Amino acid sequence: MVKYRVTIDKEACIGDGICISICPEVFEFNDEGKARIVEKYREEGKEYTGLIEATEDLENSLTQAEAMCPTQAIKLFKLE
Ligand code: SF4
Repeated sequence: MVKYRVTIDKEACIGDGICISICPEVFEFNDEGKARIVEKYREEGKEYTGLIEATEDLENSLTQAEAMCPTQAIKLFKLE
């Protein structure tokens, strides 16, 4: 398992839902139709910062979501 911090820049997000299609385990829509982190993975309850111990499958879909976001709103940081 690899630990990641993931952040979403809410201002940059255009709400196209690509990350949610690719990785619904981690991303969901907020009330404004933009992406946020699902409750399970929020770091200290923050909606736009997640802390995730990722399996290989989850790591792959997170990496893909980061790469496919058209506005580079998603940033992944490997912690260990
Ligand atoms: S892929 Fe990027 S722009 Fe699209 S909903 Fe996710 S964070 Fe927002």
